[in-house]
Amino acid sequence: MGELRMLIDGKLVEAEGGATFDNLNPATEEVLGQVASGSAGDMARAVAAARRAFDTTDWGTDGAFRKKCLLELQAALEAEKEELRAELVAEVGCPLLSTFGPQLDAPLREALTWPAAQIESFPWSRSIGVANPFGIGDSEREVWKEPLGVVAVIVPWNFPVEIILNKLGPALAMGNTVVLKPAPDTSWNATRIGRLIAEETGFPPGVVNIVPSRDHEVGEVLSTSPDVDMIAFTGSTATGRRIMAASANTLKPVFLELGGKSVNLVLDDADFAATVPAAAAVCMHAGQGCAMATRLLVPKARYDACVELARSAFEQVAYGDPTDASNFQGPQVSKVQQERVLGYIAKGREEGARVVTGGGVPKHLPKGFYVEPTVFADVDNSMAIAQEEIFGPVLCVIGYDDEEDAIRIANDSPYGLSGIITSASLERAKRVARRIRTGTLGLNGGIWYGPDAPFGGYKASGIGRQCGIEGLEMFTETKTVGWPAG
Ligand code: NAD
Repeated sequence: MGELRMLIDGKLVEAEGGATFDNLNPATEEVLGQVASGSAGDMARAVAAARRAFDTTDWGTDGAFRKKCLLELQAALEAEKEELRAELVAEVGCPLLSTFGPQLDAPLREALTWPAAQIESFPWSRSIGVANPFGIGDSEREVWKEPLGVVAVIVPWNFPVEIILNKLGPALAMGNTVVLKPAPDTSWNATRIGRLIAEETGFPPGVVNIVPSRDHEVGEVLSTSPDVDMIAFTGSTATGRRIMAASANTLKPVFLELGGKSVNLVLDDADFAATVPAAAAVCMHAGQGCAMATRLLVPKARYDACVELARSAFEQVAYGDPTDASNFQGPQVSKVQQERVLGYIAKGREEGARVVTGGGVPKHLPKGFYVEPTVFADVDNSMAIAQEEIFGPVLCVIGYDDEEDAIRIANDSPYGLSGIITSASLERAKRVARRIRTGTLGLNGGIWYGPDAPFGGYKASGIGRQCGIEGLEMFTETKTVGWPAG
């Protein structure tokens, strides 16, 4: 049974008026249990607690204490790792397999410990030397980095623990206090983190507050509040735009990790038989990953053979019950998401693309929000299925004339989050990579991911970078000071 209560000002509490909502298992459609449904008033209380903790304690200046608290949370999470794993599979519907990697074990290993380890070595101040800009005497100058203050962390449902820890770790390491709003579909992992913070760590009251809610609008309090100094958001581009607009009056920085429509660009000298089948990686977690390479770009001269390789690979994807470790793909997270994906598949057909395999709801899985692994051929990059994020196990195979045409198609997207390039020549892959407007790229099977690796998007995929030194800097303000040179 998951944790119902929210964390506000160091206490585990129910929502105003005792409001709750159901947490559903997307694989079985059964109600797992309940979560507190925070109100706008609850959210405002959480913001006030975070404000007080930032303004009246030495959290922002005591780096050694922050490191200790982060490592306590890490140890507490490790101690409940197997319960958390089972809970994630139940509420997210993610395949058990994915929890051994990006869904749980990878972030648990490093998302808190890496930022904690940077606290001491982070360049909190640097000299920029002596200058006499106005001709009235020399001044010694320094640049100081300081925490921003109260950070609102708003997260989606697809990789909840990964995203929460990769925001909490850097934000807290840099000395900020936090109000976290999890996604309504997957609140238990967040409320568990809240319980562990309250019961197993020395975090002072108010430093971390966690307020789930059935109502998306409750999150709006965070954008409009003058007591919130920054929004760190991961989610859809539409919500990102809305948050940015709602934050405009209070002029707070918005750090946005948004959607993607990344390419898997197979150059004409690549080993097609080895490379194209790997495009089925988009089925992992039912395609519900922002960085998935859902546009497969192949030379027109090899188009039919590549479509055949993709079809065969998609037909071999093991999918179904996410608790079965042999399954690569589970259900979509909700009925809403299942219908959204099916809607895009219908639209692709209307637009004239050809379903090569899949394209519907699997008949052998009558319960749960499943969608078949689906490959579309005859896709033009201008079609909605190639331009918009589907967030399902759906691959679009697009033909290109030559390298120039491939680069043009790759960049002909409102998004720019990630991608893959494969070539017989690493030098060629790197040369092409320089021309793709996207925040991350895997070349020839390489993986860019890590707590030290900045992640984020160009264009409508977002503003700012999560992880790495750039990710720590996101959560700081800059103060420049000068004094008479002695
Ligand atoms: P979403 O935008 O619907 O919701 C994300 C979060 O924002 C949820 O917690 C939701 O309750 C909250 N929210 C909604 N309206 C709000 C408002 N007006 N004010 C404040 N908060 C509000 O996204 P989702 O459907 O949960 O997640 C899927 C999306 O997330 C996809 O588009 C995916 O690409 C994106 N995503 C991006 C990354 C990345 O790092 N770039 C990672 C994972 C997911």
